[in-house]
Parts: sequence; structure tokens; C-alpha cells
Amino acid sequence: MIIVMRHEATEADIAGVVSRLAEIGCEAHVSRGQLRTVIGAIGDREQIQTLPWEAMAGVERAVPVLKSFRFVSRDFQSEDSVITVGNARFGGDHFTTIAGPCAAEDRDQVMRTAEAVKLAGAKMLRGDAFKPRTSPYAFQGLGEAGLQLMAEARAEFELPFVAEVLDSREVELVSSYADVLRIGTRNMSNFTLLAEVGRQPRPVMLKRGFTATLEEWLNAAEYIYKEGNHQIILVERGIKTFETAARNTLDITAVPLIKGMSHLPIIVDPSHSGGRRELVSPLARAGVGAGADGIMVDVHPTPDTAKVDGAQALLPAEFAEMMRSVNAIASVLGRVL
Ligand code: PEP
Ligand code: MN
Repeated sequence: MIIVMRHEATEADIAGVVSRLAEIGCEAHVSRGQLRTVIGAIGDREQIQTLPWEAMAGVERAVPVLKSFRFVSRDFQSEDSVITVGNARFGGDHFTTIAGPCAAEDRDQVMRTAEAVKLAGAKMLRGDAFKPRTSPYAFQGLGEAGLQLMAEARAEFELPFVAEVLDSREVELVSSYADVLRIGTRNMSNFTLLAEVGRQPRPVMLKRGFTATLEEWLNAAEYIYKEGNHQIILVERGIKTFETAARNTLDITAVPLIKGMSHLPIIVDPSHSGGRRELVSPLARAGVGAGADGIMVDVHPTPDTAKVDGAQALLPAEFAEMMRSVNAIASVLGRVL
């Protein structure tokens, strides 16, 4: 149940609802927005529903939560969540680009890429140290050495960075270096990992599972939110469909749908969805056009020698070119770059 307080509700009214919930052994999750306060009632749903909430002082309405997710829903919070990482902002009017190599490979590659994407206007760097590879014999990432390279690039170019965390046992290590932790598509339903990143202070990027419905995706976000970490950025990265012409099918419809269902920011990954260099710019433009709060793009100085995902990496000059059109569209739509 979500209890929406009236605009003019007093602190005493809010406290009254909270203590009534406590009396029946339920918890209150109080969220203070600019215009009004909403209280999430957590506990035995049936017991909560029997009480006459709308008769209590200061209560405007009590909305039963029929959806399986609560806190990440628009019903719970009508204003967009805005997540700030250094100079990068996700949500609200902001449009933010993240770019970098799929994986950190060596110092030269990381530094050259970071310099190029910074120059072209990226506000955050990507570059993984732990890679989820289909083959156990493929390059798995540099581990902590990769995180150190990314931290060097952050210091040199003043760009925060995001890196994937594959396993609960890596959360502490990755969060000791990275500004944002990323949960990849393969781990979207790894509920213990979701809870673990929910219990640490870094913002989390949550990629959509490649076979996940929007409801399953938002429930995954709920696992993180519920543990206390409310800084979640959703990433649409393409889903498996019957179409095999591209690596995945970017579900552009998900962007406006998620905007209606949730207050969390959503960005698009045109690189992992298309899987091919020539698809990256068109998909990025579609993402911004559909209302995404940002994009995350693979860039590599020498894609021919990349250890991971070279076919989808843009050269620095191609990235700069793409940024011009993406930013132009964002500006027309009134987004703040
Ligand atoms: C990535 O962003 O490098 C990645 C592995 O993406 P995904 O989890 O979407 O496949
Ligand atoms: Mn990749």
C-alpha cells in the first residue's frame, strides 16, 4: 500500500500514519518529495488493506500496490530520480553520455580512449576489469590491475568510471575503485548479487536481462532499492528476439514504457544491442529520440586488436561525429547536456 499524504499534511499527520503502521507491526518507508510526502506501508498486505487510511488526518489517498514492485514505481514517487556522479547527472532533464572501452586492456588503450571521449563530451568513462565471456578461454579482464588503470584515467581526465561486478565476492573490490557498479545482462536475475550491491553506497547501473520483461527488470531494481541503495540507473541493452541480423534487438519501446512505470533514469547501450559499428550511431540517436536519459557507448583506439567486442567499438573520430548528432537531438528535445 502506498499512502499519499495531502499537500498540506503536517509532520504530526505523517507521524500519525507511521505510528499506526507500527501498531500493526508494519514498517513505513517515508519519501519526501517536493510537493508531497508518500509513505510506503511494508508488511502484511491484507492487514494493511483493512485499515481506513483515507479517514486519517492528512491522507489524500491510499493506493494498493498491485504491481510486484513498489519503491521503484512511479506510483511511489512521481518525480524523476536524479543520480549525480561527479559532473554526470542521470534523470530529470539531463542527458549524459558514458563512453570507453568494453574492457580495460592496457594503459595506452585506456588513456587514449579516455582522452578522446572526454574531448568529445562524455561525462563518464566505462571500462571493465571483470568480463562475462561466453567462452571460459576468452579474455576475462585484467582484474584489479584493470581497475587501477581506470582509476588512473579518472585522475588524469577527471571522469568518473563505471565497471561491471560479476560476483558478490567482487563487490568490495570493484566498489573500492569504481564510481558506479554495473550489473550485466547475465546477472540481472542474480538476486544475492543485487541485494549485495544494494547494501553498498555506490550507484548501480542495472542492465536489462536479455530475456527479461520490463516487470522482471523493475523487480530486479527493487531488490537493490529495498536494501537501501536508491541510486539505480537502468540500461536497455537489447533483448533476444527471433531476429538474428543484429547481436540483439534494441527495445526502443522500453524507454517510454519504463518512463511511465518507474521514476528511475534509463539509458540506452547502442553498442551491445546492435553489436556492429555501423549500427551504433543510428541506435544511439533512436535512444535519445525516445527519451532516454543517456547512452553508454564502446570506443576503442584500435578496434581491430580489441580483446573484447571490437566489432561494435567506435573509433574516437566516429564517436566524436556521433556525439554531434546525438547532442543536437538532445538539445532539440530540451535536454541539458
Ligand atoms: C558490457 O557492457 O560490457 C556488457 C558485458 O554488457 P551486457 O551485460 O549488456 O552484455
Ligand atoms: Mn562488451
